[in-house]
Amino acid sequence: MPCYDLHTHSTASDGTLTPAESVAHAAMAGVTHLALSDHDTVAGVAEARQAAQEHSIHFIPAAEFSASWHSEGRKALTIHIVGLQLNTDSPALQRALQILAEQRLQRAEQIAQRLEKAGAPNTLETVQQLAGTGQLTRTHFAQALVSLGYARDAKQAFKRYLGHGKPANVAGNWPDMVDTIDCIHAAGGVAVLAHPTRYKLTRRWLLQLVTDFKLAGGDALEVVTGNSTPGEVSMLAGWARRFALAASVGSDYHGAITPWLKPGRLMPLPSDLTPVWTLWQKTTS
Ligand code: AMP
Ligand code: MN
Ligand code: MN
Ligand code: MN
Repeated sequence: MPCYDLHTHSTASDGTLTPAESVAHAAMAGVTHLALSDHDTVAGVAEARQAAQEHSIHFIPAAEFSASWHSEGRKALTIHIVGLQLNTDSPALQRALQILAEQRLQRAEQIAQRLEKAGAPNTLETVQQLAGTGQLTRTHFAQALVSLGYARDAKQAFKRYLGHGKPANVAGNWPDMVDTIDCIHAAGGVAVLAHPTRYKLTRRWLLQLVTDFKLAGGDALEVVTGNSTPGEVSMLAGWARRFALAASVGSDYHGAITPWLKPGRLMPLPSDLTPVWTLWQKTTS
């Protein structure tokens, strides 16, 4: 039986397993079709692709793009768009990822400054050590705050410093949602609105986001994620039908920092939805 997991992270961004370890772990857990979707990078894709071959599982090159959604009547919101089945050689994709990496570095410097003002100085060096060659993320800031003794655990680090409305929460200057979807398409990929119920939007604003995503050419909703409730799946499935959007499934596995998630351990997609993988499998069969 095929088992799809189309949203996972490695040390190329804020996961704890290397790309090869992520693939091995997912394969052991029974995943047959795996996407590695690190934040704003495809740096782990080559290693993961090789490992997937060794484990005889299907591999989908991907990335989770940070993007801004602008809508009349509210301030810009950071959203995540998973680009699946990307051609990683695409010049448009390479350019976009370069800009995103620069944005991440700039934002990290701003977060460090804010943390200093909030009484937690000298975090950037630790963050850079923790991230190594991977993208700099708030997850690394949370880990740095814990290791420097400013927070008990990552949860507290987000609650005190990094989370929404907290002193070191810096709104990233991310590319617009519309341009991000165009870039994913230019790279031959499929654009999936990641974990729609995690943006802390009211139902009305979430519906507006899904409407705008569809109008911008978005292809699919992540109907099932690692911590979905049946009610959330049912609401998103309804919108996938209404907007003729395909449906994706992904755990958002990050390794040891998300021990409650298991790759591939996901609720089934309602059977009448169009699974997102038919969008690329159609073109190859
Ligand atoms: P960034 O893209 O750098 O803003 O970091 C976002 C990442 O931080 C997410 O992908 C999660 O992995 C992690 N994250 C966000 N909120 C929390 C939270 N409240 N607790 C733990 N991790 C979080
Ligand atoms: Mn993450
Ligand atoms: Mn995300
Ligand atoms: Mn993710």
